[in-house]
Parts: sequence; structure tokens; C-alpha cells
Amino acid sequence: AALNRIAALEPKLHSFLCVTAEHAISQAKAVDAKISAGEEIGLLAGIPIGIKDNMCTKGIPTTCASKMLADFVPPYESTVTQKLAQAGAVTVGKTNLDEFAMGSSTENSAYHVTANPWDITRVPGGSSGGSAAAVAADECTIALGSDTGGSIRLPASFCGVVGMKPTYGLVSRFGLVAFGSSLDQIGPFGRSVEDTAILLNAIAGYDPKDSTSLKVDIPDYTQSLKPDLKNLKIGIIKETFGDGLDPVIATAVNKAIEQLKQLGAEVREISCPRFRYGLPSYYIIAPSEVSANLARYDGVKYGFRTPDPENLLSMYTDTRAEGFGTEVKRRIMVGTYTLSAGYYDAYYLKAQKVRTLIKQDFEKAFEQVDVLVSPTAPTTAFKAGEKNADPLSMYLTDLMTIPVNLAGLPGISVPCGFDDGGLPIGLQLISNVLREDLLFQVAYAYE
Ligand code: GLN
Repeated sequence: AALNRIAALEPKLHSFLCVTAEHAISQAKAVDAKISAGEEIGLLAGIPIGIKDNMCTKGIPTTCASKMLADFVPPYESTVTQKLAQAGAVTVGKTNLDEFAMGSSTENSAYHVTANPWDITRVPGGSSGGSAAAVAADECTIALGSDTGGSIRLPASFCGVVGMKPTYGLVSRFGLVAFGSSLDQIGPFGRSVEDTAILLNAIAGYDPKDSTSLKVDIPDYTQSLKPDLKNLKIGIIKETFGDGLDPVIATAVNKAIEQLKQLGAEVREISCPRFRYGLPSYYIIAPSEVSANLARYDGVKYGFRTPDPENLLSMYTDTRAEGFGTEVKRRIMVGTYTLSAGYYDAYYLKAQKVRTLIKQDFEKAFEQVDVLVSPTAPTTAFKAGEKNADPLSMYLTDLMTIPVNLAGLPGISVPCGFDDGGLPIGLQLISNVLREDLLFQVAYAYE
């Protein structure tokens, strides 16, 4: 059914970079055989899933939506996809993204633009736009994305689905192509909070192959799906309701907050005064990590190589000039600058200090409340092409999601209504580290 749906909708949506029909059918048959033999089947047996194309899948192309990795077929499997296979999930394809996950609209893909299923003239958000669109359009039941500054939560909000960025270190990053290593985290998409919780159950857990992986016991997240919020304290982040917020979004989020009160939560306003420095510090820290992480694409070890170089140096430079797109190059240049001798202290070190201050704002907030609430994004899905010429206006889309990554916290976006044009709006919930259970509880009771 998922493959038929993909065949019918892909000509308009372009959620996928590669559809793995044969692979999916053989995985589904394997589940079928287990059922016939009376063997135990996994948590996700037979469930169609889409994988963002920056997670390595053995024998299946992994392009990161970049020309640089156009022909890259990984010789190994990422930990998450290995866990999914063990759980019996059926991978229907690799989903579209902004090149190397840098962007907020999926328009930075070197291959094609993904449409928002609610209005195909609009973007699905990014960078995990393919995964969000595929789940919203029922091309698959669940999907994986990655979130460095909002790339799961933003497309979830634009596409009217649930998307979660777990605590940094909860899900293994082994086999996830690195963007900003201190910020990157893999997380689940689903059409319901329950589906999202089940998918997190399947992928969370310690992995010795990822040095930042947390050695913690993983609870069963479906146990947190309770219908009321008595004894819970929820804080509204005051600063996220300022200038630039579309009034329709403010209304929808305020209505959602009223509902949280009715469900028994005690709600108060909380101030995170350094929140607004999240965006500028992120746009120093993330590009700095990009400039280091993307140094490996040199035309030698793997990936694209310029076809006819004059000498060794031009082989490197031409490979990178031809292989990377505009936004990726912009980040490499910014990051190389902010890490260079003489500028490091003024930019990179300063940004790291600001990062600590933002963390402290959250720590203070969580002394007073259990969960924080804000809009996920300042607007609903914008038109394709609308923000391409102005990178700064594109960057501003992530204003509310970025501080969560800087602090390593979990965050979830749940649908909370529609704007006047029928486009979905997202509600963001944030908790302290490893309190995904609280996010699922609040999101489930609200939904
Ligand atoms: N839009 C942000 C960026 O371009 C976040 C991307 C992400 O979370 N992968 O960096």
C-alpha cells in the first residue's frame, strides 16, 4: 500500500531521493515468513518507514542530497537503521533533505525540491522535509529525521505531523553523516504521538560505536501516554511570543495552552532572557563544525572527484567547488573564518560562552517547571522560492528550535491547529535532559 501511494504521489511531492521497492518487499516477506513460522516478530514488524538520506544504509545510496555523494553506496549500516531492521521495519526509501541537512525548506537539495502535501506550492520545511512530507502524505507510516537546529521539529510543524528531537546522546549517531557534531541528533516522525513514542523505543539506547552515546536505561515511552496532566508544571517561554510571530500562530498556541490548563497542568510564564542569542551563536558554532566535518570531501577517499584536474591542488579545489552547493560553501567559509587564528576568540569562543548562558537559562527554568512550551516556528509553511535569495530570513525560521540543540535538550513538535489558509501550526514542548517521558505525556494528553 505504501509503495502504491508513493507511485501515485511522488510525481507531485518528491519526498524521496530513492525508493527501495525491492528491498522493502524482501523485508516485508521476511516478516511474513516469521509470522508463518510462528516466530517472534519485532516491535515495528511490517511497518513502512522512510529514512532521511543522511543515514548510511549498506548497499543503498546515501547522498545527503549532495552532488558530492551522488554515487556513494555505504559499505556499512548506521546503528539506527540496523536497529530498525532488527525491529522488523520495512524501509521504503531514502527521503529528501537540504544538502548535508543545511537549510530550513529542503530547497537546498542538489536533486529536487519537495512539496508540502497541504499545498504543493509551499515548502515542507527542512532540513528533514522529505521525511515529514512522506509521513504527512501517508507514503510511509513513520520516518527518521535528524535535527541540528530544528530540522525535525520545523518540518513536523509545517507538515502537520509529530516530530521529536531527543536528548543529545540518546540515539546513536553512528552512520549519520556529520553536520554539527555537538548538535546533531536523530529522531522520529509519526502521525500520532503514540507512533512517535514507539519509534523512539526502537532506536534509543547506548551504542559503543558513538563516543557521545549516553549509558542510560531506556524506559518504555508508551508508558508515558497518559490522558491527564495533573501535578505537572508548564512554563510558557515569554520571549518566543515577541516580534516576528505570526498572530495566527500566537492565537493557536495560546488556545493549546488553555487546553493544557484544562488537562490539569499548572501554567505560568517563564523568562529565558538569553534565548535570543541562540540564533547568532548557532550560526558560528554550526558552521565551525561544518568546516571541520566537511574537510573529508576532498575527492580522494570517496565521493565526487572533478573529472579533469590540472594538478593535485586544483583537484581538491575544483572537486569542492563543483561538488558542494551554495549554502554548504557559505557555511564552510564562515566556519573556516570563525575558527581561524585571530578570530577564534572573538567568534567561536564567544559563541561557546553564549551557549553556556543559554543552557543556564534552561536550567533555571527547569527548577520552576517540568515542561516548557512555545510555538515551533514563527510562521506556517512559506512559498517555494520565497526565502531563497535571503539566507538570513531563512535562518530566522529556526529561532525557536535552535536553543534546544545548543542545550542538548529534547523537544517535540505537535500539531496545534491551522492558519487561515489551512496550513498546519506546530506547538513545541521542551523538557530537561532525558525527560522525553514528560514530552510524550504532555503531547499525548494534548493531542
Ligand atoms: N535550519 C538549520 C540550519 O540550516 C537547522 C538544520 C538542521 O537542524 N539540520 O542549520
